[in-house]
Amino acid sequence: MKNQKNTRKQISVVIPSFNEEGNIRKLFNRLMLNLDKNKYSIEIIFVDDGSTDETLNQIRSLAKESKIVKYLAFSKNFGHQKALKAGLDFSNGDAVISLDADLQHPPELIPALIKEWESGNEIVYTIRRNTEKTSFFKKFTAQLFYKILNKLSGLNISQGAADFRLLDRKVVNVIRDMQEDNLFIRGMIPWLGFNKVGLEYEPEERVWGTSKYTFKKMFLFAMQGITSFSVKPLHLTTYLGGFIFLLSSIYIFYALFVYFVQNKSIPGWTSMLISVLFLGSLNLLMLGVLGEYIGKIMIESKRRPQYIIKDKNL
Ligand code: UDP
Ligand code: MG
Repeated sequence: MKNQKNTRKQISVVIPSFNEEGNIRKLFNRLMLNLDKNKYSIEIIFVDDGSTDETLNQIRSLAKESKIVKYLAFSKNFGHQKALKAGLDFSNGDAVISLDADLQHPPELIPALIKEWESGNEIVYTIRRNTEKTSFFKKFTAQLFYKILNKLSGLNISQGAADFRLLDRKVVNVIRDMQEDNLFIRGMIPWLGFNKVGLEYEPEERVWGTSKYTFKKMFLFAMQGITSFSVKPLHLTTYLGGFIFLLSSIYIFYALFVYFVQNKSIPGWTSMLISVLFLGSLNLLMLGVLGEYIGKIMIESKRRPQYIIKDKNL
C-alpha cells in the first residue's frame, strides 16, 4: 500500500495454520483463482501456529515463489485465536479476510465478501449452513454452546459462526489495540458494532488431515468464550446465596418455634440447625458478594476500549 504507484486498494488474507502441510498449496491455488490481482493489491499472510509437520516449509517455499505470500511463524502452538490475532495485527490491507487453512471455508465466497465490503459494510461475516457433512456431535455441541453463550453474555453470536469473515481496516485497528489475553474474536465481532452483513455458505469437508480442535480444545474454547464475556456465573452465586439465606431464615424461625412454643425438640437440634443454616447460607451469600467484585476486576483488567469511534470530523 505504501510505496505503490497506483492507488489500488489492498486486500489481506489471513490464514491460521497448525499442521496443515497437505492443505497449504491447495489453498493457495484456490485463493489465486478467487482473488482479483488486477483490481486489488493482494497479500496472503500465513500464520504458522507452531506446526510440527512440514507446514512452515511449505509456506516458505510458497513465499519464495510468490511475492504476495507472507508469513509469521510462532515459537510454539499458541492456539487458533492467537494466530488469527497475530495475522490481523500484522496485516496491511484495507480489508482483511480470515479463513481456515483446511478449505472448509470456500475461497469461492471471497468475491462476494469483497462486494459487500465495497458497498459499505465494515464487517462481512459468514454463516455456515448446516449440512450432513457436519457430524451430529459437532452440530449438537456447537448449538448448545452458542445457546448458553448468548444467554450468558447477552450477545447474539449465530450458531454457524466461524472465523471466516472480512473486516474493514477500521475494525482491524480496533481489534489490534485489544490486549486482553483471553481474546475470543468470534464474540468480540458482534460486540464491536459497525455496519455488518452476513453471507451463507456450504461448508466443505476438510481437504486433508484431521480437525485440530480436539474435544479438550473445544471445551477450553467454550469456557473461554463464556468467561471472557460474562460474569453471570458469578451473579448466580449471589442470587443462590440470597435465596438460600432466605430459605434458611424461614427454617430458623420454624426451629425456634418448635423449641420455644411446641417445646418438643431433641436437645441440641435447634442450636445445631441454626448454626449450620446461618453460617452455611451466609457463607454462600458472601462468596457471591466476593464474586461480584472479582467480576468487576475481571472486566476492568481486560482494558477494553470504553467506546469505539467509527468516523469523526473534529
Ligand atoms: N488452528 C491453529 N491452531 C490450533 C488449532 C487450529 O492455528 O491450535 C487452525 C487450523 O490450522 C485451521 C483452523 O485453525 O486453519 C481451524 O481448525 P480446524 O479446521 O482444525 O477446526 P474445525 O474446522 O475442526 O473446527
Ligand atoms: Mg476445519
